[in-house]
Formats: sequence, structure tokens, C-alpha cells
Amino acid sequence: MSLLAVSALTASYGVSQALFGVDLELDEGEVLAVMGRNGMGKTTTVKAICRMIRSQGRLQFDGHDLHALPSFRVARLGIGLVPEGRRCFGNLTVAENLIATARPGPWDMRRVAYLFPRLDERRNQRAASLSGGEQQMLAIGRALMTNPRLLILDEATEGLAPIIRQEIRAAIARLKSETAMAILVIDKSLTDLRRVADRAVILERGKTVWSGRMSALTRQISQRFVGV
Ligand code: ATP
Repeated sequence: MSLLAVSALTASYGVSQALFGVDLELDEGEVLAVMGRNGMGKTTTVKAICRMIRSQGRLQFDGHDLHALPSFRVARLGIGLVPEGRRCFGNLTVAENLIATARPGPWDMRRVAYLFPRLDERRNQRAASLSGGEQQMLAIGRALMTNPRLLILDEATEGLAPIIRQEIRAAIARLKSETAMAILVIDKSLTDLRRVADRAVILERGKTVWSGRMSALTRQISQRFVGV
């Protein structure tokens, strides 16, 4: 049984339908890339999984029907979201931001500091004073502090300097090799995704149009559906 099983997922913003049948599965310890051009439904899929918008279809995590749960219960079940646009509490320090989401488990301040030494150096600084890249690390750290079984990264390296992208990529690679965490990753860089993801699904107009192992994603397929 897959850790996350999504099928025939549909969702709308008011009268405007955004998802028309998303199918994806994710196992423990696996990294899945959710790909597609702008506006194809990647973020909406993530919002549906986290119960931030209403949806229909099959949405199961570890055997639980997520449709029966409010979003805070989904987080407690073990889904940690790093949302697009990295939301942290600007007035709180780095340490306070991390403590705010802490739940029991192997991930604590020490382990996050080990993964992102920059955060440790800035632990008493207000989050608002961090650079964009550091705020992104903090957003990932906050999600890890919830001790998720599934970590969702929505455009985690968007708009960041190459050196910071590299640091975040390396951290994701370490999560993959050192933990059994499942990771769902959305990123514009196909090169980055090829390095880290085991499998991919491609969305077009709110529907899964391709899924398979990353190694089976040919240039023709990516050019047709993702444009690169
Ligand atoms: P991007 O790569 O640009 O983030 P995406 O693949 O994540 O794109 P979504 O943000 O999920 O795409 O958008 C899917 C569709 O839903 C698009 O047509 C978009 O315009 C629409 N949409 C997204 N958010 C809203 C909203 N808050 N209200 C109305 N429509 C929305």
C-alpha cells in the first residue's frame, strides 16, 4: 500500500475548476516530482492534499481518508508542507519559528541545525532579517520540526541564488539518503529534479498526463508537457 494515494482528484476555486483528475502515488522513502507548465495544477494538488481547498476523489495517506480530516489533523498525521512563498513568522527569531512547529520525533533543533548550519548561526535573529534563501531553509526546518513522514516542497528553490539552491538541493539529497521520509517536490528545474526524484508525474490542465520513473522521462516527453 502506498503512503500517499491520490486518484481521480478534482478541485475548484469557486466556479472555476482547476483539477480534473490527478492521479499520483508515493511510497515511504521515495521522492516524487510533480511537474507541469505554469497553472497546470501543481500547487492546487498540494493544497488539496493538505486540505487547504475542498476536493473530490481518492485522497489517502497511510490508509486514512484525508477528505474526512481538517488541515491541522492532516499535519498531525505526518504531512509537512513547505508552501510556495515560504511563510515564516517575521517577528519571531529563527529558534522561536522552529519551536513553534515542533512535534515529538527524531527531528529537533539540533538536527535541523546540522542540516542547515546557517540557521544555527542565526538562531537568535528575527526571521524577517534573514535572506530569501535563509528564510527558505527556515521554512524547510519548520516543516521538518513537525516530524513528517511526507515532506512537500512547493518551489523550494524558486528565485534563489545558485549557491543557495545548491545548499537546499544538497539538504534534500541528504534527507533522501539518510531518512525514510517520502518527499513530494515541485520545482521548475528539470535538471534538479532529475538528480533527486525517483519518479515523476506530469500535470496538464489539472490532469495527470504522464507518470513513470524519472529515468523513463525522455526529452520528447518533457518538451511536450513541461516545455524543457
Ligand atoms: P505555477 O507553476 O504557476 O505555480 P501550478 O501548476 O502550481 O502553477 P496552480 O497554482 O495549481 O498551478 O493553478 C491551477 C489553476 O488554478 C490555474 O488555472 C490557476 O489560474 C487557478 N488558480 C490557482 N489559484 C487560484 C485561486 N486562488 N483562485 C482562482 N483560481 C486559481
